Amino acid sequence: MTERLILLTNDDGLWAPGLAALARAAAPFGRVVTVAPDRNRSAVSSAMSLHNILRLSEIGPDRFACDGTPVDCVLVGICEVLQRKPDWVLSGINHGFNLGEDVFYSGTVGAAFEGRIQGARAAAFSNHPAGSLEFAEPWITRFLERWEAMDLPANRIWNVNFPQGEPLGFRLTGQDTRAYHDLVERRSDPRNTPYFWIGGDAGPTYAKAPGSDAEAVFEGFASVTPLRLDLGCPETLARQADFDAAFGG
Ligand code: MN
Repeated sequence: MTERLILLTNDDGLWAPGLAALARAAAPFGRVVTVAPDRNRSAVSSAMSLHNILRLSEIGPDRFACDGTPVDCVLVGICEVLQRKPDWVLSGINHGFNLGEDVFYSGTVGAAFEGRIQGARAAAFSNHPAGSLEFAEPWITRFLERWEAMDLPANRIWNVNFPQGEPLGFRLTGQDTRAYHDLVERRSDPRNTPYFWIGGDAGPTYAKAPGSDAEAVFEGFASVTPLRLDLGCPETLARQADFDAAFGG
């Protein structure tokens, strides 16, 4: 049997401590090759570089920095660095949660989706913003020992979030919703020209709906959320008569 080939990336950059923790957790499961952004690329989602060149630097054995996005790293990793498609694509451990609609902005999750599109089993890992990687790391090993026992359909990934302390266990969860406050802050530069800062101070408020990813992590569990790439709405497709009434004629 050929050795399992594991591609690692993140969106916090190659030198982020979370990536080192993920590499340690993944090491027992095969050959780990890391291709990660050369700087913080958080919140670039599935962005891909189409209009500028990409550089790849070999930093150490099976360890590469790329000046592109997390998705660029997955593509360059698979097409240039690896000799074949990876079995696993693992992304993270992100500094900070990716819960609810965070997953639409997250470069960590975007990289995992790209890994799945490229045919690998894929997962994104994120940690409580004040959480310790020492808690998350052995739980990733535990997760990786188990995840091949539960196959997901095509175009699905696992999105895993860790609570602040030692997790009480794994919990299968759905995607929560959240609200950001003071989303765009207006300030003035020294020449009194306004500039804008996205994010605000208050941070997100999660609804923490029953069974959701946010509820699980705030109750101390490792949240394990299956996510789908196809965003279609089967429940709306079932409403053909409503559609015809609204749009027909
Ligand atoms: Mn990040």
